[in-house]
Amino acid sequence: MMDMHVHSVFSYDGKAEIEEIIEECHKKGLERFCVTDHYEYEDGKLAHGFNYEEYAVTMEKFGLPRGVELGWDGIGEVELPGEFDFVLLGVHKFKEKAPAEELVTDYLERTLYVVKNVEFHALAHLDYPARYVQVDFRVREDLVEEVLEYLVKNGKVLEVNTAGLFKHGKPNPDFWTLEMYWDMGGRFITLGSDAHDPLDVARGFEEVLSVLKERFRFELVFVDGGRILSKTLR
Ligand SMILES: [Zn+2]
Ligand SMILES: [Zn+2]
Repeated sequence: MMDMHVHSVFSYDGKAEIEEIIEECHKKGLERFCVTDHYEYEDGKLAHGFNYEEYAVTMEKFGLPRGVELGWDGIGEVELPGEFDFVLLGVHKFKEKAPAEELVTDYLERTLYVVKNVEFHALAHLDYPARYVQVDFRVREDLVEEVLEYLVKNGKVLEVNTAGLFKHGKPNPDFWTLEMYWDMGGRFITLGSDAHDPLDVARGFEEVLSVLKERFRFELVFVDGGRILSKTLR
Protein backbone atom coordinates (compact mmCIF):
# COMPACT_ATOMS: atom_id res chain seq x y z
CA MET A 1 0.00 0.00 0.00
CA MET A 2 1.21 3.47 -0.86
CA ASP A 3 0.00 6.82 0.42
CA MET A 4 0.14 8.97 -2.70
CA HIS A 5 -0.67 12.30 -1.08
CA VAL A 6 1.53 13.43 1.79
CA HIS A 7 2.78 16.90 2.68
CA SER A 8 6.14 17.61 4.27
CA VAL A 9 7.89 20.71 5.58
CA PHE A 10 8.41 21.78 1.97
CA SER A 11 4.72 22.75 1.89
CA TYR A 12 3.87 26.15 3.31
CA ASP A 13 1.29 24.45 5.55
CA GLY A 14 3.09 21.16 6.23
CA LYS A 15 4.94 20.31 9.40
CA ALA A 16 6.19 16.78 8.79
CA GLU A 17 9.91 16.14 8.48
CA ILE A 18 10.62 13.36 5.97
CA GLU A 19 12.18 11.24 8.76
CA GLU A 20 8.98 11.54 10.78
CA ILE A 21 6.84 10.40 7.85
CA ILE A 22 9.13 7.41 7.28
CA GLU A 23 8.91 6.48 10.95
CA GLU A 24 5.12 6.74 10.94
CA CYS A 25 4.89 4.57 7.81
CA HIS A 26 6.97 1.88 9.50
CA LYS A 27 4.69 1.98 12.52
CA LYS A 28 1.58 1.64 10.37
CA GLY A 29 3.07 -1.03 8.12
CA LEU A 30 2.68 1.17 5.08
CA GLU A 31 5.01 0.07 2.29
CA ARG A 32 5.66 3.52 0.89
CA PHE A 33 4.47 7.02 0.30
CA CYS A 34 4.84 9.87 -2.14
CA VAL A 35 5.51 13.40 -0.96
CA THR A 36 3.28 15.78 -2.92
CA ASP A 37 4.02 19.25 -1.62
CA HIS A 38 2.05 22.28 -2.66
CA TYR A 39 3.05 24.23 -5.73
CA GLU A 40 0.14 26.61 -5.83
CA TYR A 41 -0.93 29.21 -8.36
CA GLU A 42 -3.59 31.76 -7.50
CA ASP A 43 -4.87 34.64 -9.60
CA GLY A 44 -2.17 34.13 -12.19
CA LYS A 45 0.72 34.17 -9.70
CA LEU A 46 2.71 31.56 -7.82
CA ALA A 47 1.26 31.76 -4.30
CA HIS A 48 3.11 28.88 -2.60
CA GLY A 49 6.15 27.11 -3.96
CA PHE A 50 9.36 25.49 -2.81
CA ASN A 51 12.97 25.26 -3.86
CA TYR A 52 12.95 22.53 -6.49
CA GLU A 53 16.67 21.72 -6.33
CA GLU A 54 16.58 21.24 -2.59
CA TYR A 55 13.37 19.20 -2.93
CA ALA A 56 14.79 16.90 -5.60
CA VAL A 57 18.01 16.34 -3.63
CA THR A 58 16.04 15.53 -0.47
CA MET A 59 13.74 13.04 -2.22
CA GLU A 60 16.73 11.37 -3.81
CA LYS A 61 18.51 11.17 -0.45
CA PHE A 62 15.58 9.23 1.02
CA GLY A 63 14.94 7.20 -2.12
CA LEU A 64 11.52 8.79 -2.57
CA PRO A 65 9.70 9.70 -5.76
CA ARG A 66 9.38 13.36 -6.61
CA GLY A 67 5.71 14.14 -6.25
CA VAL A 68 3.91 17.47 -6.28
CA GLU A 69 0.42 18.80 -5.73
CA LEU A 70 -0.02 21.41 -8.41
CA GLY A 71 -2.75 23.77 -7.26
CA TRP A 72 -4.42 25.94 -9.86
CA ASP A 73 -7.55 28.07 -9.88
CA GLY A 74 -7.58 28.13 -13.68
CA ILE A 75 -6.44 31.75 -13.91
CA GLY A 76 -3.41 32.67 -16.01
CA GLU A 77 -0.79 30.05 -16.72
CA VAL A 78 1.12 27.57 -14.60
CA GLU A 79 4.52 26.01 -14.81
CA LEU A 80 6.24 23.44 -12.64
CA PRO A 81 9.84 24.17 -11.57
CA GLY A 82 11.27 20.85 -12.80
CA GLU A 83 10.62 17.17 -13.48
CA PHE A 84 8.28 15.24 -11.22
CA ASP A 85 7.48 11.52 -11.12
CA PHE A 86 3.93 12.13 -9.99
CA VAL A 87 1.82 15.24 -10.49
CA LEU A 88 -1.40 15.56 -8.54
CA LEU A 89 -3.61 18.37 -9.81
CA GLY A 90 -6.00 20.08 -7.46
CA VAL A 91 -8.34 23.06 -7.42
CA HIS A 92 -8.47 24.73 -4.01
CA LYS A 93 -10.36 27.88 -4.84
CA PHE A 94 -14.14 27.92 -4.55
CA LYS A 95 -16.84 30.52 -3.91
CA GLU A 96 -17.31 29.91 -0.19
CA LYS A 97 -20.25 32.24 0.21
CA ALA A 98 -22.16 31.42 -2.96
CA PRO A 99 -25.37 29.34 -2.95
CA ALA A 100 -24.58 25.63 -3.23
CA GLU A 101 -25.40 25.17 -6.90
CA GLU A 102 -23.40 28.20 -7.97
CA LEU A 103 -20.45 27.07 -5.85
CA VAL A 104 -20.49 23.57 -7.30
CA THR A 105 -20.91 24.80 -10.88
CA ASP A 106 -18.04 27.24 -10.55
CA TYR A 107 -15.79 24.67 -8.91
CA LEU A 108 -16.46 21.98 -11.49
CA GLU A 109 -16.12 24.36 -14.45
CA ARG A 110 -12.76 25.45 -13.05
CA THR A 111 -11.80 21.79 -12.64
CA LEU A 112 -12.78 21.01 -16.23
CA TYR A 113 -10.67 23.91 -17.44
CA VAL A 114 -7.56 22.96 -15.46
CA VAL A 115 -7.62 19.26 -16.35
CA LYS A 116 -7.69 20.23 -20.01
CA ASN A 117 -4.95 22.81 -19.77
CA VAL A 118 -2.04 21.32 -17.89
CA GLU A 119 -0.17 18.01 -17.76
CA PHE A 120 -0.77 15.86 -14.69
CA HIS A 121 -1.20 12.27 -13.57
CA ALA A 122 -4.03 12.29 -11.04
CA LEU A 123 -6.88 14.62 -10.14
CA ALA A 124 -6.93 15.35 -6.41
CA HIS A 125 -10.04 15.55 -4.22
CA LEU A 126 -12.66 16.15 -6.93
CA ASP A 127 -15.36 17.44 -4.54
CA TYR A 128 -12.94 19.32 -2.26
CA PRO A 129 -15.35 22.13 -1.15
CA ALA A 130 -17.58 19.48 0.49
CA ARG A 131 -14.95 19.31 3.22
CA TYR A 132 -15.66 22.87 4.24
CA VAL A 133 -19.21 23.78 3.26
CA GLN A 134 -22.48 21.92 3.01
CA VAL A 135 -22.84 21.18 -0.67
CA ASP A 136 -24.06 18.20 -2.62
CA PHE A 137 -22.15 17.77 -5.85
CA ARG A 138 -25.12 15.85 -7.28
CA VAL A 139 -26.72 19.19 -8.16
CA ARG A 140 -24.27 19.20 -11.07
CA GLU A 141 -23.96 15.50 -11.71
CA ASP A 142 -23.65 16.38 -15.42
CA LEU A 143 -20.43 18.31 -14.80
CA VAL A 144 -19.04 15.62 -12.50
CA GLU A 145 -19.66 13.18 -15.33
CA GLU A 146 -17.90 15.46 -17.80
CA VAL A 147 -14.80 15.67 -15.60
CA LEU A 148 -14.74 11.90 -15.11
CA GLU A 149 -15.21 11.32 -18.82
CA TYR A 150 -12.21 13.50 -19.55
CA LEU A 151 -10.10 11.50 -17.09
CA VAL A 152 -11.18 8.15 -18.52
CA LYS A 153 -10.64 9.19 -22.15
CA ASN A 154 -7.25 10.72 -21.47
CA GLY A 155 -5.71 8.07 -19.26
CA LYS A 156 -5.78 10.20 -16.12
CA VAL A 157 -6.13 8.86 -12.61
CA LEU A 158 -8.80 9.74 -10.06
CA GLU A 159 -7.58 10.28 -6.53
CA VAL A 160 -9.53 8.95 -3.55
CA ASN A 161 -8.59 11.33 -0.77
CA THR A 162 -9.35 10.14 2.75
CA ALA A 163 -8.95 13.49 4.54
CA GLY A 164 -12.63 14.26 3.94
CA LEU A 165 -13.60 11.42 6.29
CA PHE A 166 -12.35 13.51 9.17
CA LYS A 167 -14.00 16.72 7.98
CA HIS A 168 -17.42 15.77 6.61
CA GLY A 169 -17.44 11.99 7.01
CA LYS A 170 -16.85 11.05 3.38
CA PRO A 171 -13.84 10.62 1.17
CA ASN A 172 -13.22 13.11 -1.66
CA PRO A 173 -14.80 12.29 -3.96
CA ASP A 174 -17.82 10.64 -2.38
CA PHE A 175 -18.65 6.98 -3.14
CA TRP A 176 -21.43 7.80 -5.63
CA THR A 177 -18.81 9.57 -7.77
CA LEU A 178 -16.57 6.51 -7.60
CA GLU A 179 -19.57 4.41 -8.63
CA MET A 180 -20.11 6.69 -11.62
CA TYR A 181 -16.40 6.56 -12.54
CA TRP A 182 -16.41 2.76 -12.38
CA ASP A 183 -19.60 2.50 -14.46
CA MET A 184 -18.13 4.65 -17.21
CA GLY A 185 -15.01 2.52 -17.39
CA GLY A 186 -12.71 4.40 -15.02
CA ARG A 187 -10.30 1.89 -13.55
CA PHE A 188 -7.32 3.83 -12.19
CA ILE A 189 -7.29 5.42 -8.76
CA THR A 190 -4.73 6.54 -6.20
CA LEU A 191 -5.24 6.59 -2.49
CA GLY A 192 -4.05 9.61 -0.53
CA SER A 193 -4.41 10.78 3.06
CA ASP A 194 -3.48 14.41 2.37
CA ALA A 195 -1.55 14.31 5.66
CA HIS A 196 -0.05 17.61 6.75
CA ASP A 197 1.00 16.04 10.04
CA PRO A 198 3.10 12.83 10.13
CA LEU A 199 0.55 11.13 12.40
CA ASP A 200 -2.09 11.43 9.68
CA VAL A 201 -0.25 9.35 7.08
CA ALA A 202 -2.62 6.66 5.71
CA ARG A 203 -5.39 7.89 8.00
CA GLY A 204 -8.77 6.53 6.89
CA PHE A 205 -7.28 3.99 4.46
CA GLU A 206 -8.76 0.95 6.17
CA GLU A 207 -12.27 2.34 6.18
CA VAL A 208 -12.19 3.42 2.54
CA LEU A 209 -10.38 0.32 1.34
CA SER A 210 -13.00 -1.97 2.80
CA VAL A 211 -15.69 -0.23 0.73
CA LEU A 212 -13.55 -0.06 -2.41
CA LYS A 213 -12.65 -3.74 -2.22
CA GLU A 214 -16.23 -4.75 -1.72
CA ARG A 215 -17.73 -2.70 -4.53
CA PHE A 216 -15.06 -2.39 -7.22
CA ARG A 217 -11.93 -3.85 -8.77
CA PHE A 218 -9.95 -0.65 -9.26
CA GLU A 219 -6.33 -0.52 -10.31
CA LEU A 220 -4.38 1.17 -7.55
CA VAL A 221 -1.72 3.45 -9.00
CA PHE A 222 1.65 4.04 -7.37
CA VAL A 223 5.16 5.16 -8.29
CA ASP A 224 8.14 2.85 -8.26
CA GLY A 225 11.61 3.85 -9.37
CA GLY A 226 10.19 6.85 -11.19
CA ARG A 227 7.66 4.70 -13.06
CA ILE A 228 3.90 4.80 -12.66
CA LEU A 229 2.56 1.30 -12.02
CA SER A 230 -0.66 -0.18 -10.76
CA LYS A 231 -1.97 -3.25 -9.09
CA THR A 232 -5.51 -4.58 -8.80
CA LEU A 233 -7.19 -3.77 -5.55
CA ARG A 234 -8.90 -6.88 -4.19
ZN1 LIG B 1 -5.24 19.77 -2.08
ZN1 LIG C 1 -2.79 18.13 -0.34
